[in-house]
Amino acid sequence: MLHSKGPLLTIDLTESETTETDIESIQERYIGGRGLATKLAHDRIPFDADPFGPENRLFLTTGPMQSSQMSFTGRMNATAVSPLTDGLASSNAGGFMSRNFADTGYSAIELAGRAEELTIVHVTDEGVEFETVPDLEEATVPETAAYLEDEHEIESDQTAIVGPAGENGVRFASIMTTEERAFGRGGLGAVMGSKNVKAITVDGDSAPEIEIPATQQEIHREAATDDHIMKRQGTVAVMDLANEVNGLPSYYFSEQSFEGVEGINGDAVEAKKYKKGTCSACAFACKLPTRDEEAGVETEGPEFEVAMAFGSNSGVDDIVKVMKSNELCDRYGLDAISAGNTVAAYLASEDEFGNTELIHELVEKIAHREGIGDTLAEGIARAHGELGVENWSVKGMDFAAHEGRVLHGQALSYAVANRGADHMYATFYSVEYPLVPEEDALDPQGATGKADTLVERENLMALNDSGIVCKFSRDYMSPERYELLFDATFEELLDVGARTVTLERHFNNQRGFDITDDSLPYDVPGLEDGIQEYYDARGWENGVVPETALPDDAVAG
Ligand code: SF4
Repeated sequence: MLHSKGPLLTIDLTESETTETDIESIQERYIGGRGLATKLAHDRIPFDADPFGPENRLFLTTGPMQSSQMSFTGRMNATAVSPLTDGLASSNAGGFMSRNFADTGYSAIELAGRAEELTIVHVTDEGVEFETVPDLEEATVPETAAYLEDEHEIESDQTAIVGPAGENGVRFASIMTTEERAFGRGGLGAVMGSKNVKAITVDGDSAPEIEIPATQQEIHREAATDDHIMKRQGTVAVMDLANEVNGLPSYYFSEQSFEGVEGINGDAVEAKKYKKGTCSACAFACKLPTRDEEAGVETEGPEFEVAMAFGSNSGVDDIVKVMKSNELCDRYGLDAISAGNTVAAYLASEDEFGNTELIHELVEKIAHREGIGDTLAEGIARAHGELGVENWSVKGMDFAAHEGRVLHGQALSYAVANRGADHMYATFYSVEYPLVPEEDALDPQGATGKADTLVERENLMALNDSGIVCKFSRDYMSPERYELLFDATFEELLDVGARTVTLERHFNNQRGFDITDDSLPYDVPGLEDGIQEYYDARGWENGVVPETALPDDAVAG
């Protein structure tokens, strides 16, 4: 089976020491990316670790496909115990860092302990340097990127940076790379901030040689020549359809369609797009560099999720205002989905929907934990009581845009996903929207009879995250292509995903997660039975992985 190559680099921030560990036997079973990081995290983070404590560890990983020039591979993975969900969480970012990371010769970097002072960690193929940077305290992401460029001639696509939100322990702080790309979901920026690490830089000329089968060229060619709506409008292309099927969360989830959708939909974003945007090596180029000169706003996106969170869910029908919110989140290092939903919760509590001045002020206050921002920085699950609004989250993770009250298999996925109400964990919505060719489509009604498909999709997404292959490759990948690319049967490859999901669940079980955490704040027909079918398909009991269902190589954390 194709897998990543190169050792694990452990950076002990407390002692300013590094060690290298051969991890080939793990790579052979977990490929790379999320699978590799999950196995390492499961075995090396104590099960009772405080997400903000020095005992938590942050893993950055690439997979074998980052040695190719294939489209859909300009991505990499981060994993740690999440301050938002309190479970193990992996987050995936695009941009241009992945290949620079591979050039260091390491397949995985582990940050352990805590530095005494604010530090930048420089990783090259010649070693690691620790640079204390007290002057960068509370610096924004662009300010930190400018410092690295001016002082070290390091480009932003060689960096992973946290903004003030990460330093201040905002539970949904992101790690930013290439300035506008985020390891967004799950608050891993706050983990990096808790370790007093302002940035990690990567450089070198020691990428491992990994022979990638020729299928990569076919996939790349098709991605380059295909006429696909996402090439013009990215994920926001789906917004009109979501609105039509009553599936666009609006006004802090109290409504499911938005009268101002035309102001924030795919056409609105496309009208502000000023050039093509992509990730490293990707000819699909679905990113959305946008600007509005009059308003002085330049950003990337918003994607569908952010256009929902800061648009319809906040009662805002002006794309330029949403772009401004997006830009602020990138500047301060915040997951724009969680930031938007949390701001929407506050707007609901104060009956201030559509107040964009207040929205932008709240984003800044959250990043600095000022005033009400300190409460909101805790996330919806912890702040909803004080705000007096409903808790629109699962396992502490606020909801993504694809509406489970309409797409009931997606709702089942939100309930059971280890990362909480996260659309990318199974991308189940993609087989329930009426966009799908009839032979592949599932009736969105009802949560029963969908467990086998859900298990397969979770395993497949975990495989993509391990490879690493972008999930938007779905129209270009097939079981045969996975087999050719990764030199293994499709079943063996799905087993890698299954092991990854099971280890995440097992880790979370040791922290107290069980069936009571697999629940939703709304009713869906057949949900309880659907959850039981899911457990049966996984071999779990009441949401808990029994010893018999653990991978042979599971070791106590
Ligand atoms: S499809 Fe889009 S998000 Fe995925 S790697 Fe290509 S440009 Fe990046």
